[in-house]
Amino acid sequence: MSLCLRALDSKGLMTTAPSPSSTASLHIVCPHCQTTNRVAKADLGKATDCGQCHKALFSGQSVAMSEAAFDKHLLRDQIPLLVDFWAPWCGPCRQMAPAYEQAAQQLEPQVRVAKVNTEEAQNLGARFNIRSIPTLALFLNGREVARQAGAMGAADIVRWTQSQLAQHR
Ligand SMILES: [Zn+2]
Repeated sequence: MSLCLRALDSKGLMTTAPSPSSTASLHIVCPHCQTTNRVAKADLGKATDCGQCHKALFSGQSVAMSEAAFDKHLLRDQIPLLVDFWAPWCGPCRQMAPAYEQAAQQLEPQVRVAKVNTEEAQNLGARFNIRSIPTLALFLNGREVARQAGAMGAADIVRWTQSQLAQHR
C-alpha cells in the first residue's frame, strides 16, 4: 500500500526503530475551520482540540459539509471519510438521520462522519454520480472505495463501514 511505502522511505530500513504505531501521527482536518491538524495516533481517542480554532476535532456527531469543506477532508484527512448524501425532501433520508448520528458516535474518531445535502451541494452529487438518496459513500486516501444506496439502521451502518474498511486496508 502506498502509505506503508512512504513510511518506509522516510524511516529507512532500521530494524531497531520504534514501532511506527507508537510514533505515527495523522493529518486530521478540523470540521469547524478546515485547518489540517497533526494528531498522534495514540491521541486519536482522546479529546483533541484544533490548534487553530480550539474547538473539538471530534464531537461524535456527523459534520455537514459544503463542497469546499468536503474536498479538504477528502484530500487531506488521513482517516476514512464516510458521507451520507441526502436531501431535506427525502423521507427515508430524514428517517435514517438519527441512526446515522448513532453510527457517528461509534465510528469516530477512527472515521470522519459527514453529511452532504445534495440540494445545497449539487455539484458533489453530480461529481459522484449519486443516483438515489440516501447513499452512503466511503472514501479512503482521497478515493471512493465503497457505496451503498438505501436507508440503514445504526448497527448496519457501522458494520458496513467496518467491513468495507477491513477489505481496503
Ligand atoms: Zn479548527
